[in-house]
Amino acid sequence: MVVVVGAGAAGLVAAIFARSSGREVLLLERTSDGGRKILISGGGRCNILPSSLRPERFVSDSPSHLVRGLLRSWSLDGQRAFFEHDVGIPLALEKETGKLFPASNRARDVRDGLMAMAVAKGVTVQTQTSVTDVRRADTPTADTRWRVATSRGDVDATSVVLAAGGLSVPLTGSDGTGLTIAQRLGLEMHPTYPALTPLTGATPLLAALSGISLDVRIRAKWQGHTTESHGGFLFTHRGYSGPSVLDVSHVAVRHPEAVLRVQWTERDADTWTRELTAAQGLVVNVVARYLPERLAEVLCLEAGLPPDRRGPELRRQERTALVDALTSYVLPWRGDEGYKKAEVTGGGVALTDVKPGTLETFRHPGLFICGEMLDAFGPIGGYNFAWAWVTGRVAGLAAGRS
Ligand SMILES: Cc1cc2nc3c(=O)[nH]c(=O)nc-3n(C[C@H](O)[C@H](O)[C@H](O)COP(=O)(O)OP(=O)(O)OC[C@H]3O[C@@H](n4cnc5c(N)ncnc54)[C@H](O)[C@@H]3O)c2cc1C
Repeated sequence: MVVVVGAGAAGLVAAIFARSSGREVLLLERTSDGGRKILISGGGRCNILPSSLRPERFVSDSPSHLVRGLLRSWSLDGQRAFFEHDVGIPLALEKETGKLFPASNRARDVRDGLMAMAVAKGVTVQTQTSVTDVRRADTPTADTRWRVATSRGDVDATSVVLAAGGLSVPLTGSDGTGLTIAQRLGLEMHPTYPALTPLTGATPLLAALSGISLDVRIRAKWQGHTTESHGGFLFTHRGYSGPSVLDVSHVAVRHPEAVLRVQWTERDADTWTRELTAAQGLVVNVVARYLPERLAEVLCLEAGLPPDRRGPELRRQERTALVDALTSYVLPWRGDEGYKKAEVTGGGVALTDVKPGTLETFRHPGLFICGEMLDAFGPIGGYNFAWAWVTGRVAGLAAGRS
């Protein structure tokens, strides 16, 4: 029998594919229903996949060719066909973002669809069952290599797929038990950290902009490295959120010395300089043509401009400071919202500790790892479900065969 631990995105797909071997499959889930992260994903709409995927955007402390190899194992077209034809969920493209959602815009359809498919294929789903430990059987036989300890007693298994997720949003059921079990089994782990999480530390001036959102570009620099994100940016009471912030948040989380610079519009320094040099009316009104008015006021203030400064009176030094604030604004941040709000967990089981084609651990034949437990995550945009679907399928197929 194959035991899959965790009925989240990766575990559901792993169970479905493990079952294709004809083996008995038991899916153990701690909550009363499973797939709770799917339910809350994409604001309740579930951004199920990206329409195109750049593997280099994944973040991992493991070698990048291992991430790329796994992603290549199931094409986006293949994944899309699986959901549309096998699970029966038509998908729709959101053109502005390139994200794919269920056409119904209901995340519940994805969770329920996967669960129904698993049951229809003959997977036994046991909810309200917490796995507390996984260990090698004392007297292993061909059929019982593993003993899985649960809140409802022990279960024997030939193969075990660990798909218990990471540490993010523990209310959804994943509290890191899976990672603890992996560690106890001696697997190599990369340190875990919250990723895709909002940042805190807005100054009172910026906190007053709470609720304002716009599209920006952010450049993060640390220890000689640079990364860039662009997309939505949202001022919150405590700091900053939105895809562009979430996508670079791991840098801030891991490198407190990182500097984040925001370019508030697509206009570059030369364009702004030309426009401000030729400006006739109030400078703040020129800036407010391209930015929300209150943000324009704050940026002028922070650049040291009096509110009534008119274009012809703009001093060179003021113009330079304003162009800097508009194109290279050093975002004041102090911390992050941590796992409570993180969409994913960075770090986890090293990809070098699992076989690239099967996700079976090198140390323990018959033990497979998939999903967020593995050391890789992608940016906002459906990348993390793509990772869960791909790795769930690889581990499930191989566990069924093993
Ligand atoms: C608010 C939010 C929105 C998101 N939106 C998106 C999105 O739109 N698109 C996208 O691509 N990604 C999104 N993500 C990320 C995505 O949800 C995760 O990457 C994905 O769910 C990881 O899948 P997983 O199966 O590895 O882990 P999980 O989904 O966390 O599943 C793990 C499962 O294991 C169960 N479990 C844990 N421990 C045990 C145990 N000891 N015994 C039994 N069961 C256990 C848990 O209850 C859970 O059901 C979002 C995440 C959050 C938090």
